[in-house]
Amino acid sequence: MLAEAISHTGLVRPGNEDYYILDLEMGLIAVADGMGGHQAGEVASHLALNTLRERLLDRPADDPLAGLMAATAVANETVFRSSLSNQEQEGMGTTLTAIRVVGNKGFLVHIGDSRAYLYREGRLQHLTDDHSYVGELVRCGSLTLDEARHHPRRNVLTRALGTEKSVEVDNLELELKPGDRLLLCTDGLYEVISDAEIQTIIACNPELKRATQELLELALKRGGPDNITVVLALYE
Ligand code: MN
Repeated sequence: MLAEAISHTGLVRPGNEDYYILDLEMGLIAVADGMGGHQAGEVASHLALNTLRERLLDRPADDPLAGLMAATAVANETVFRSSLSNQEQEGMGTTLTAIRVVGNKGFLVHIGDSRAYLYREGRLQHLTDDHSYVGELVRCGSLTLDEARHHPRRNVLTRALGTEKSVEVDNLELELKPGDRLLLCTDGLYEVISDAEIQTIIACNPELKRATQELLELALKRGGPDNITVVLALYE
């Protein structure tokens, strides 16, 4: 697997509460978008992904999905406990979307409104549902994806990591084909760029680094209202 990642504060927010992990040795890519006052969002996203990675390092990869689920549960507890013992971190939480590639398979865990996409043979498809108020409305057919991008309540999450003692985690196992690209991103990207535009940029930029830069540059050109994080991996 080859991968590139980029994260940017954007043009409006005072700090970057997004975080990512790219660990090619483990075949691990992950993004997190933290939330909470007093920089607690930054604490939450870093704590969640660092805990996830440490936990995975401790375990053999014989059952990668079970390992990821267990590590995600520990990350949840760790963020939650930290928020209870620290007044400035009260109520903090984060999204978490991670894929571990082992052999020819990708194992995904997901909570919140960051996204994972699969780009295969020229087509971009969603691997995750947004755990947000507007995401639910899109799934029941009350809103289109495009309307959701402009909805005033688009930032309201229905599920996050670290805000409660335990959390329900979506998971997926997928078989990879050579040439597949996996894209992880935070909402700062997809709120200002459509799926069709993402697909075109990936198609026109076979070089991963170039593609991540083009995605970031377009999000900034659209005003960069939020932190923007993009991880793009190629399965060879
Ligand atoms: Mn965000």
